[in-house]
Amino acid sequence: MIKNNFPIPNTFGLPVKARIFAEYSSVEELRDLLKRYQGERLLHIGQGSNLLFTEDFDGIVLHSAMRRARCVSEDNDHVWIEADNGLVLDELIEQLCDMGISGLENLSYIPGEVGASAVQNVGAYGVEVKDVIESVRAVAVADGAERVFTNAECHYGYRDSIFKNDLRGQYIITHVVYKLNKHFEPKLDYGNLRSEAGDKPTPMSVREAVIHVRKQKLPEVSELGSAGSFFKNPIVSREKYETLTRQIRDDSIPHYEQEGGIKIPAAWLIEQCGWKGKMMGGAQCYEKQPLVLVNRNNATPEDIVNLAAAICKDVKDKFGIEISPEVNYI
Ligand SMILES: Cc1cc2nc3c(=O)[nH]c(=O)nc-3n(C[C@H](O)[C@H](O)[C@H](O)COP(=O)(O)OP(=O)(O)OC[C@H]3O[C@@H](n4cnc5c(N)ncnc54)[C@H](O)[C@@H]3O)c2cc1C
Repeated sequence: MIKNNFPIPNTFGLPVKARIFAEYSSVEELRDLLKRYQGERLLHIGQGSNLLFTEDFDGIVLHSAMRRARCVSEDNDHVWIEADNGLVLDELIEQLCDMGISGLENLSYIPGEVGASAVQNVGAYGVEVKDVIESVRAVAVADGAERVFTNAECHYGYRDSIFKNDLRGQYIITHVVYKLNKHFEPKLDYGNLRSEAGDKPTPMSVREAVIHVRKQKLPEVSELGSAGSFFKNPIVSREKYETLTRQIRDDSIPHYEQEGGIKIPAAWLIEQCGWKGKMMGGAQCYEKQPLVLVNRNNATPEDIVNLAAAICKDVKDKFGIEISPEVNYI
């Protein structure tokens, strides 16, 4: 499918268009498109749930219509599942939970497709997708050559991977292989999952608990446009954290010790700056979760950009901490 001046799907609900929008159903079709449109500005999207389009896209937007998953290997303890890039991650998780296969259930209800989730290293409730990714198959934009990346070669970090840095825009992920578990070891230490998941948790009961908790906190994109958490949680040094507690005379700043420093919830910093519920044009800092920016009233891309910039500035001025967007600006 190839269309001109086509509306780009995006969960912010912004009325942006692609000069060319093309959907492919096989790796061969993808290669043909790459060849045909070589030299054009190119963007591959999933559901557009982590994108902020600042204007119409003057180039070609690609999307995958490959939506299958298959078991490629198994032993007594594990199953290796290979999924196509265009499969909706949550549909895959539902099917796996149904079969009692675990590893991805904590990531239930995160919008988006399999390919993008391996770019973004999506995470929630104490699990990141990198924990179960065995390898990633991709096609080079330059010449269509296939390359398999092992988990280590993906250089995964917090909402980060080599596909967002050194190899940004150079590869299109076509398949992801997950190593999943036949024996369930629930991860329930995060939030109130333990009480929500029941006495004898199963992958499906954990999935249902995660969905229940998420629905209370996050807006449904069908009702209120957003890209989920707009900002990353900053990680600061211990010295910085201690200076901060002295400076604001508060040792109850929420924080999590982790490799590389101390993580401070960006939502807390934003709330302290008084942004929770505030609007700029049609964009709003969501009243239930200030980490989320929403399209409250026909926001323009500019409204969202301006709101994000004002929040970053206030957090920097008040705490001396830089928060940066998790969302990709296009
Ligand atoms: C309500 C809501 C809640 C959310 N909650 C979470 C959460 O809990 N945790 C979390 O981590 N994220 C969360 N997100 C963010 C988002 O769901 C993830 O980042 C998701 O992985 C984006 O998937 P997508 O298919 O929409 O990708 P898109 O937004 O379309 O694309 C994201 C990036 O991946 C690139 N890309 C897409 N497909 C490919 C491919 N096949 N090959 C190479 N590059 C590709 C794009 O160019 C872009 O740079 C949330 C978003 C919303 C709207």
